[in-house]
Amino acid sequence: MLALFARSGFRVADDPSLADVIVVNACAFIKEATQEAIDTILEMAELKKIGRCATLIVSGCFSQRYRDKAKWSLPEVDFWAGVDDWEDVMSQLIKKIPGDDIDTANDNRHIDSQASNIDGGVYNRRDDFRRILSEPVSTQHIKIAEGCSHNCSFCVIPSIRGRFKSRGIDDVLQEAKWLYGQGARELILVAQDTSFYGRDIGTSLTALLESLLKGTDFPWIRMMYLHPKFVDDDLLNAIAAEPRVCPYFDIPLQHISDPVLTAMNRTPLSSGIYALIERIRKIVPGATLRSSFIVGFPGETEREFGELRDFIQTASFDKLGLFPYSPEDGTAARAMRPRPNAKTAQRRCAELMSIQRDISRSLLETKVGADADVIIDRISDDPDFNYEGRTTGDAPEVDGRVFVASGCFEIGQIARMRIVGASDYDIFAG
Ligand code: SF4
Repeated sequence: MLALFARSGFRVADDPSLADVIVVNACAFIKEATQEAIDTILEMAELKKIGRCATLIVSGCFSQRYRDKAKWSLPEVDFWAGVDDWEDVMSQLIKKIPGDDIDTANDNRHIDSQASNIDGGVYNRRDDFRRILSEPVSTQHIKIAEGCSHNCSFCVIPSIRGRFKSRGIDDVLQEAKWLYGQGARELILVAQDTSFYGRDIGTSLTALLESLLKGTDFPWIRMMYLHPKFVDDDLLNAIAAEPRVCPYFDIPLQHISDPVLTAMNRTPLSSGIYALIERIRKIVPGATLRSSFIVGFPGETEREFGELRDFIQTASFDKLGLFPYSPEDGTAARAMRPRPNAKTAQRRCAELMSIQRDISRSLLETKVGADADVIIDRISDDPDFNYEGRTTGDAPEVDGRVFVASGCFEIGQIARMRIVGASDYDIFAG
């Protein structure tokens, strides 16, 4: 989206108050995200009254899901672009945006995208770039597919983003090469279900990985959002055999109790999940396991919650996300009863979080004294440390960090260092 604007002569601003055009590219997956989107839209709408902004655009899942209703309650928004028509809408509106605010000296207009954390807000004006990089250049996400063909009963994503559609291997490879050329050293593959990649076009995630390994020099390739049903032995063996693929498994499991998984319309059930974890640990020794769970789903009594608590205690995940269930309009689970109340769901989440904190700390403490490869993300804001980075076991934003107290490194450099300490979620290297 940013590249489309940039090709039309817009310049990316990193401060919305400097922008003539503001795009709020927002999520609507659950209620909290929807509220955050509305708050941001209202905040940006203020800049139309008191600032430079002349055009406010809302895009992404929020727009796709709510634009018909929201356009009456949010008249400040000039254009609504959905997930399937954003390119058409943006191209049309680029022609309509008045030229008064064009910075004629630079022949550029200014745009801000609130969903993006623009890195410096500067780009070289060229017609050949594919993306404007909106995160630190050394680590880049690449979307390998869009949509989802599963029907988890709590989830609105398939109705917003449509059925699963893989990009071609060559298309992904070309973009990956371009990202490497821009300076990226860690490539993170994302999709709604990364492990389903290729099944709609006669290929597989393993084949994509092989092409990326052969066609690029990325030292780290990481995958996020694997579905437990589609993590097969081919993939496990490929990860085990290739040191350039991070031995990192982010597999949202959602629950462990069979009645709850059935109500969620999820497979495998508990026996398949236990077997998968065993297979991962056997084939990829030292693998980092991350998962996420929904707590307080309809039908989760103290008994099902107890199953989940025991599972989390015994499975001993390195990383864990816990979310209270959010009933969403348009999903099958919305009408399911009985449903634990919000307070109960919060209490259960807090109990699991406290269990996980102890697990995380003791797992991290076992690493003290060992050496690990660390990618340097940034200069640390903490005066006690020089840099902040991550190991192959830490994804950006969601996992812990490595605080580095000594040495001199480039941002994006991957260096071997000694782990000297651990806290609940972070480690320290010297
Ligand atoms: S696999 Fe993920 S995106 Fe797809 S329906 Fe289930 S929760 Fe939603």
